[in-house]
Amino acid sequence: ELSARAEDTLALLGADATAFLARAGKLHINGAWVDATSGKTFAVTDPSTGEVFTHVAEGGSADIDLAVAAARAAFDHGPWSKLSPMERSKLVWRLGDLIEKHADEFAQLEALDNGKPVTDARMGDVTFSYELFRYMAGWSTKIHGETIPLTSGAPVHAYTLREPVGVCGQIVPWNFSFMMMCWKVAPALAAGCTIVLKPAEQTPLTALRLAELVVEAGFPPGVFNVVNGLGETAGAALAAHPRVDKIAFTGSTEVGKLILDAAKGNLKKVSLELGGKSPMIVYDDADIEAAIPALAYGCFYNMGQTCTAGTRLYVHEKVADRVLAGVAEFARGMKIGKGLDPATQIGPLVSEEQFARVTAYVEAGQREGAKLYSGGQRHGTSGYFLEPTILSETTADMSVVREEIFGPVLVARTFGDDEAESIVDEANASIYGLAASVFTRDVGRAHRVAKRLKAGTIGVNTHHVIDPALPFGGFRQSGWGREQGYEAILLYTEVKSIGATAGGGICRLTLGPEDA
Ligand code: NAD
Repeated sequence: ELSARAEDTLALLGADATAFLARAGKLHINGAWVDATSGKTFAVTDPSTGEVFTHVAEGGSADIDLAVAAARAAFDHGPWSKLSPMERSKLVWRLGDLIEKHADEFAQLEALDNGKPVTDARMGDVTFSYELFRYMAGWSTKIHGETIPLTSGAPVHAYTLREPVGVCGQIVPWNFSFMMMCWKVAPALAAGCTIVLKPAEQTPLTALRLAELVVEAGFPPGVFNVVNGLGETAGAALAAHPRVDKIAFTGSTEVGKLILDAAKGNLKKVSLELGGKSPMIVYDDADIEAAIPALAYGCFYNMGQTCTAGTRLYVHEKVADRVLAGVAEFARGMKIGKGLDPATQIGPLVSEEQFARVTAYVEAGQREGAKLYSGGQRHGTSGYFLEPTILSETTADMSVVREEIFGPVLVARTFGDDEAESIVDEANASIYGLAASVFTRDVGRAHRVAKRLKAGTIGVNTHHVIDPALPFGGFRQSGWGREQGYEAILLYTEVKSIGATAGGGICRLTLGPEDA
């Protein structure tokens, strides 16, 4: 029985999403819906009301075993393993088309599950994702090795092959649950891998819908399997599984380290997209009017629950008043509401736990001496809404400056002419290195600072820079490896070197002419 408030939210869904909710509740293994072997389910909560709106099957290690067996069989000797690159490419492209066909439905499910604004989900997460499938479909037919002349000049035909890495475990977070999943699924499929996906327990829905479309697109059974469940059980079992060849993880740095530990049993390949605490530096020669919305979105997009969020603002003292007032005013103008309302620009935080965590940071920041410049209040009486918040007059030692808050909280400090260069060092003084940005009209400075910033993605006069073609990932404790672009294909392939002689060569460290 659902509460009246839960029903109110569900009434905002379109017919397709409503119909999906009625049939989504199981795991999806080997191309079919199955119950969890334990029979367990877990509740899914609407962050705009805090009410439970559905239950889904809770997989554990036994279900991970089943899914890995299906993925293993599909990879090792299923029809998938025999498809030509062109056939694979067409399937991946077709999946992109199907996502686009159901884009509104995906956006609604994402907004319901996560609370994010449905308009952002539709124009951002979902559009990005189907275009990514098309981009990656193109790579299927362009993955190849090289012929390599040997240093010794030996008459040996030496070449490399680039082959799919195998069965991939993929574990994703709740903040961009659909998009983070697609970032992993699209290149893995394009490369010819098979997948066991473990979505975040807060946001189990869109992965299940994708599993249906994978079948509809014509992928053979076992290629894509979804096991919802908790991180400590299903996630840990997947990361440790001896028959999994690679684990790709997006989530917190803390859990990323657990993934590494779990993966070491069979030394499976590991790629990690982890946390961030990204700086935005605004010089006094910047175009302030243009910078203000970029800074506000840089931090507050997706309620600040964005790994690349520009959460540390370093602003030149000559323009600090204008910039802070401008960003605060812009943020006040952002409409707060339920994710499913198309006018919403700021939805709720994902959960009660996340709300408590973020508000505790806002309090800690003030205790440590920061000034609450704007926002910081709970919005409404139900759900987990928090006003976009600016803490000013911060110092480098404060917890709000050092730690990832993962909420709509911008921490700011001003700098003077004497710090125009050293501020870059301060911006770099973080355990993270995911993104950074610099705002200036001085082209020389823009490139100089961009070069000095230690982060995987740098914006110049903008903050979030993402595209299916651009490598994405972190320096330092923000991760290992790069997703997107050809780099993502590298993550999902292995290189094999082959040296072919006419036969009968002797075995030595270096092949010589007598090996021909
Ligand atoms: P999280 O680390 O708590 O959880 C991420 C996933 O890991 C979930 O599916 C969870 O169930 C699973 N998990 C938890 N414990 C596990 C364990 N012991 N073994 C295996 N799996 C386990 O992160 P979150 O709270 O869902 O997401 C927020 C974090 O993700 C933030 O730190 C954010 O910066 C990061 N993030 C990074 C990127 C990026 O690309 N760098 C993108 C989005 C989010």
